[in-house]
Amino acid sequence: MATDRTPSGRPAPRGRPPRNRRRRRQRRFPPFALAIIAIALVVGIVALIARGGDEPVASTAASEPVIPAVSEADIAAAASQLGPRDQELVNIGQTGVSINKAGGSRKYVALTFDDGPGPDTPAVLAELKKLNVPATFFVIGANIKENPDIFRQVLADGHEVGVHTWNHKDMTTLPAKEQQAEIESTAGEIISVGGVASRLFRAPYGSVDPAVLKQAEKAKLLSVLWDVDTVDWTRPSADQIVQTAVSQAQPGSIILLHDGGGDRASTIAAVPRIVKELRAKGYEFSTVGDLVISDPPGADDMSSDSRSTQQ
Ligand SMILES: [Zn+2]
Repeated sequence: MATDRTPSGRPAPRGRPPRNRRRRRQRRFPPFALAIIAIALVVGIVALIARGGDEPVASTAASEPVIPAVSEADIAAAASQLGPRDQELVNIGQTGVSINKAGGSRKYVALTFDDGPGPDTPAVLAELKKLNVPATFFVIGANIKENPDIFRQVLADGHEVGVHTWNHKDMTTLPAKEQQAEIESTAGEIISVGGVASRLFRAPYGSVDPAVLKQAEKAKLLSVLWDVDTVDWTRPSADQIVQTAVSQAQPGSIILLHDGGGDRASTIAAVPRIVKELRAKGYEFSTVGDLVISDPPGADDMSSDSRSTQQ
């Protein structure tokens, strides 16, 4: 698979100019050895640059460039699992937009956790279980492959899951075929490991354009962004995460948090306080799917633009 662009959109370094190749040939290196060295160099440099992204990228995603093909059987299984609830979500997603929140007619909010499943996911699950709060996890395909048991625990605890791509790249920088592979491979992994079909999609970095939204539609996924960004990936204190979530939440809010991509101790500490403080203000909690079905988003709650979490 060609990874000729970095997450920041800069072209990756290319091979050496012909003059160097000629000189190397005189040292009697076989050409295929040179090719292997050149590929290793490019992969190494790309991996180094990829680590410089603003939003945390799960370490497994950076080291797992191979996207597995999804079998026809997996895709057929996903299609056959499209029940009435799924169809409602798909219908909302067939309009070339992402939803940022639900309609606001009910005092419900949805907590969402991105970039797992990973080592901190079980602690997040334990907090949610104690609080009896359902949440939505936008998972990275490579991380499901790495942590299948943790992923199954997310589902066993009754949470909803959504596609957050296989490699956590900025989808707007990818050609259509790679966009499709990023989505379908992750949807397929969710089915083969978890036995359920996801109907939700969240683009890494909140970065979408009409082409990315079209791919989500084709895969029968509703694109979900957020209206409350706790910026917990910048590692603020738990106090700051709680303050942002509680002060900005309104009826129908979708709150962005992370259970993967690095040490999530502040997020884990913040979750019970967010829940208790919002409950004290009269809020209840729901998965994203239940939230938008029970309280459909209006035109003001949807957009076709990106929502950056990078400042
Ligand atoms: Zn992410």
